Amino acid sequence: MSISSFHPPERTLMGPGPSDVNPRILEALSRPTIGHLDPAFVGMMEEIKELLHYAFQTENQLTLPVSAPGSAGMETCFVNLVEPGDKVIVCQNGVFGGRMKENVERCGATPIMVEDDWGKVVDPNKLEEALKQNPDARTVAFVHAETSTGAQSDASTLVDLAHQHDCLTIVDAVTSLGGTPVKVDEWGIDAIYSGTQKCLSCIPGISPVSFSEAAVERIKARTHKVQSWFMDLNLVMGYWGGGATRAYHHTAPINPLYALHESLVILQEEGLENAWARHDRNHQALKSGFEAMGLTFFVNEEDRLPQLNAVTIPEGVDEAAVRKTLLSDYNLEIGAGLGPMAGKIWRIGLMGYASNEKNVLFCLGALDAVLSGMGVGINSGKAVNAARAYYE
Ligand SMILES: *Cc1c(COP(=O)(O)O)cnc(C)c1O
Repeated sequence: MSISSFHPPERTLMGPGPSDVNPRILEALSRPTIGHLDPAFVGMMEEIKELLHYAFQTENQLTLPVSAPGSAGMETCFVNLVEPGDKVIVCQNGVFGGRMKENVERCGATPIMVEDDWGKVVDPNKLEEALKQNPDARTVAFVHAETSTGAQSDASTLVDLAHQHDCLTIVDAVTSLGGTPVKVDEWGIDAIYSGTQKCLSCIPGISPVSFSEAAVERIKARTHKVQSWFMDLNLVMGYWGGGATRAYHHTAPINPLYALHESLVILQEEGLENAWARHDRNHQALKSGFEAMGLTFFVNEEDRLPQLNAVTIPEGVDEAAVRKTLLSDYNLEIGAGLGPMAGKIWRIGLMGYASNEKNVLFCLGALDAVLSGMGVGINSGKAVNAARAYYE
């Protein structure tokens, strides 16, 4: 057997994540591995927490990166805040709300579902109704940026409603963080999780989380042990908590944390507001191109995520063949529809480092060529110029 080193092809990643990783981050990843209790490493851990405070716009002490992907950040929030027998209101308007329901059930709690159509935002009136019907609910969970559909819900309003009914909130900000405003303190979010491979454009595999004082109090007052040893924040806090007493819990992913540190430094250099504005600008240019081509968006204009563009697949198109050609001939990855959206939409990510003018023009040009080459009735030859006109 002679398997040789793996050299991945050089792709442009414009799907639902991972997104193109900034070369600065890949370089940081290759720096020498040191011990996880090395004072130099511990100092870097403190800086990561500080940088995460900025990214999340929070002063929450309990803010740290979970050593596993976004799904583990999700699970960390649920296993720590939810106890067996609890009632949790879960708002679902796409795939990821369904995973929240799974988490609630696996915690031995009862999910109360508030459902909205896929592609629509979470309806605050429905949440309010569910809160009134379930005065014993303790927690409300929802997805801020639903990556399966490209819709962004009004987190601030949903959190306010939850608090009016004495519920704590769990918010999925995996796709929103770094791409659109996420204001943990201003909005009063109690538990939030994100991911590194979407708008932070870092490598996949880490999940930043943050917990309010009220969330920490609830965790400390639990009557049941957290069902997961690895994710039990009471234990994790001893490792990430700071001070001289840092104790071994697990071995942090040393080099991936160099990468996260670098990605957060890049975010700080650009500034959050500038990053949000850049995501919006590139989305507007892509939109101009798609409209010139005759393609339509799946989500109402005011609810769209700039970093995740769901476009409706024209009638009769072999959508998998389109994605395959984009990958083989253009080294360009775009996303398919997830679950019930399969075959109905493409998901075009403009996340983090991948949200730039070159990618917008490249994607429009490639899609235009592939679709017209397949004989699909689009307005060929207009999209790139429409996007350029937007930029000018
Ligand atoms: C990607 C994503 C996740 C899961 O993150 P992983 O890093 O893939 O585990 C969770 N929620 C949303 C909204 C996502 O887009």
